[in-house]
This record gives sequence, C-alpha cells and structure tokens, in this order.
Amino acid sequence: MNSTSYQQNIAKVSARIRASAQKCDRDAAEITLLAVSKTQPAAAVREAWQAGARDFGENYLQDALQKIEALADLPLCWHFIGPLQSNKTRAVAENFSWVHSVDRAKIARRLSEQRPPQLPPLQVCLQVNISGEDSKAGVAVEELAELAATVAALPRLQLRGLMAIPRSGLTGAQQRQPFADLRREFEILQRQHPQLDTLSMGMSADLEAAIFEGATIVRIGTDIFGPRIG
Ligand SMILES: *Cc1c(COP(=O)(O)O)cnc(C)c1O
Repeated sequence: MNSTSYQQNIAKVSARIRASAQKCDRDAAEITLLAVSKTQPAAAVREAWQAGARDFGENYLQDALQKIEALADLPLCWHFIGPLQSNKTRAVAENFSWVHSVDRAKIARRLSEQRPPQLPPLQVCLQVNISGEDSKAGVAVEELAELAATVAALPRLQLRGLMAIPRSGLTGAQQRQPFADLRREFEILQRQHPQLDTLSMGMSADLEAAIFEGATIVRIGTDIFGPRIG
C-alpha cells in the first residue's frame, strides 16, 4: 500500500473515533489511536508516521526490534501488546514506552528491575481475561486486585490501566459486553488506584463498541495497514 492509502485509512479510522465519541458525549481527544504495525515492514511504519500516526503497537519482539532500530530517527512511541515471557522482558524494558500485556507478577518484577534508569518508568496496562476471551492470556478477574497492588508498588513501572482482547466474531450489541465487563473492573480498581486513566480496548472490528464503553486507547491494525503479512 502507498502512503496515500495509509493517509486515507488513518483519516477514516480517526473519523470513526470522532463519530463514536460524539455519539456518547466523549471528547475524541482523550482517545489515542494505536497503530498496530505487527508484521508490517519499517517502511510502512514510516509512511504511517508521515500520515500522522505517532503510537505504534507490536506483538513480536524480534520483528519489533528491527523496526525500532530502523526508525530510531523518528520520535515514535512504541507499545508492546503481545504475549510476554521472561526471556523477552529485558528487550521490552529497554526499547518500549508502554506494555499492555502484563498478566503476572513475575513478569512485572523483571520489567521493573530491567527498566534502564535513564528512561522514564515503563507505562503498564494489565491484560485481563474477561468474559468470553479466547486466549488463556490475561490475569483472572479474581487475581486482578492483587496483581495491580504488586505492579503499583514497583519503582520502575507506572500502572496506567487495563487491556483486554475479546473473542473475535462477536457482533452488534454482543461486542459491548466484554468491554463493559473490563470497564467495571477498571472502576473497581480505581478506588484503590485513583491514578489509573487507561482502558486499552477495541480493534478494527469493534472500536465503536469499545469507545462507547470508555476506551482511551484503541489498537488498530487491519484498518490502517491492510491484511497482515506472513
Ligand atoms: C493484532 C492486534 C490488534 C489489531 O487487530 P486488528 O483487528 O487488525 O485491528 C490489536 N490488539 C492486539 C493485542 C493485537 O494482537
């Protein structure tokens, strides 16, 4: 795809965000568009940047590190949104500004220990296994409060909020239920952690439902970059 179509795609997604925000009386300026560039080449990210995108989401570490290096001349904000094992925490702590997929204390402790002192704290969302989530990733709702307390106490992490990936294939009104569930857990956690301000939810097929339920970051891949490569 050439940069014109990235520009058009980003404009279309931004218009969807604005329209949804307006329908539920929210300020679109409080919703961040995270361009999910997994499997896309660095050149595509550069074009999306030229078209106005600033925040980029990556799932696969090696793929991401190559792009981060190739694009070091640009002031991009990189978010790690993929599965996170112990052997990846150092590179994530050293190269990303945000992580959306923290789901256990061990991973959180390693990220905090490995975050370089000259960088600001790593911005963290906890991935929650809400109703109807397909994958086994994500902390169970019953264990969320304890994990949040652990993460909030770690010196090099800043706990910002929650993330979830609902089962795919939900339509219409069904799409809102998992987002409403995540929002409810978020509001409960906010009583203990009033600094929480981030709900990372909504992808290409369900960003409207997510915005109705309070999303502050929507993670959009396909509707910006087209089908994934490989
Ligand atoms: C791939 C991915 C996205 C983007 O999904 P699209 O449907 O392509 O918009 C968002 N979040 C996560 C965690 C992903 O892995």
